[in-house]
Amino acid sequence: MKWSWRVGRVAGIDIDVHATFALLILYVAIVEYQQSRSVTSVAVTVAFVLLVFASILAHEFGHALTARRYGVATRGITLLPIGGVARLDRLPSKPQQELAIAIAGPLVSVAIALGLYLVLRISGTLVVMSDIGSSGGGFLARVMWVNVAVVLFNLLPAFPMDGGRVLRAALAIKLGTVRATAIAARIGRAFALLFGIVGFFTNPFLVFIAFFVWLGATGEETHTRVQAALHDVPVERLMISDVRTLGVNDPLARAVQHLLAGFQQDFPVIEDDHVVGVLTRADLVKALAQHGDQARVGDSMRRQICVTHVRESVEHAFERLQRDDCQTMPVLRDGSLVGVLTLENVGEYVMLRGALDARRAATPT
Ligand SMILES: [Zn+2]
Repeated sequence: MKWSWRVGRVAGIDIDVHATFALLILYVAIVEYQQSRSVTSVAVTVAFVLLVFASILAHEFGHALTARRYGVATRGITLLPIGGVARLDRLPSKPQQELAIAIAGPLVSVAIALGLYLVLRISGTLVVMSDIGSSGGGFLARVMWVNVAVVLFNLLPAFPMDGGRVLRAALAIKLGTVRATAIAARIGRAFALLFGIVGFFTNPFLVFIAFFVWLGATGEETHTRVQAALHDVPVERLMISDVRTLGVNDPLARAVQHLLAGFQQDFPVIEDDHVVGVLTRADLVKALAQHGDQARVGDSMRRQICVTHVRESVEHAFERLQRDDCQTMPVLRDGSLVGVLTLENVGEYVMLRGALDARRAATPT
């Protein structure tokens, strides 16, 4: 995620903190200092915020480690001022598994709240929520109540928040992922609207959350539709098969010719009938500026490339295209190049497929 710092790695999962998080700490510190003029109470307040976010981090690990049990890796956990996000690699294959992953986070928060409750009960310092002002109330009691609030708020069925994921998973068991996501996303956007309106009059953080929920719901709905459209489609069916290639010993001028003729932006490079690299438009521009148009293609191409096979499902190939940041994938059959797959190429297919599906849905049968 942009504007975030890596602060650590636990159980093989990177933890990032968004830059705006530092602004939040600064903000609460300044507000507290203006009210109390005491460095000690500023330190206590900052410690409180950090402890709250440690609880949220534990909550996100609840999701991530449960996902791992089902073979779904987590790319990382990012802490934002409005909460945490565990970025899972993909949806688990069964809705029941998504349900377990979604509920695991709130369960961790419940466990933290219960643990603190016991500590406070035993030490006799428990206070009720209404007695807790910004300064009053025990320190740990405040952390406990925040965890209770996190559970209650997260269990609202506002997809993609946890409660919404539980709802989607439950619907998906009967309706399939695509329809379940469409319904959950509609409910999620309705909640976002509600949060936005309520937040506008009460709490600006709620407005941020409204944005997050709205964009998240729409993004995930699109993502699920794309995945469904690409499921079981072999790369062969939508690859670009009319491909211009370059040889390692060709001068860059030849790539310029191809590019200006409008064939492609990225070119597979061939040596002895094998693909040995890809020359992207960005590489070409850089190499032209440094070495001129008579330099060898082989010296400017990238050798670290991802390739795919005619029989691979586009769903998989597309995932790798996005994840590994390879804009063009040479497509091989029996080791020889027969086409390329690009992000635009997949995007066009999804668009056309969507248009055909819409027409089919509109045609009375
Ligand atoms: Zn959660």
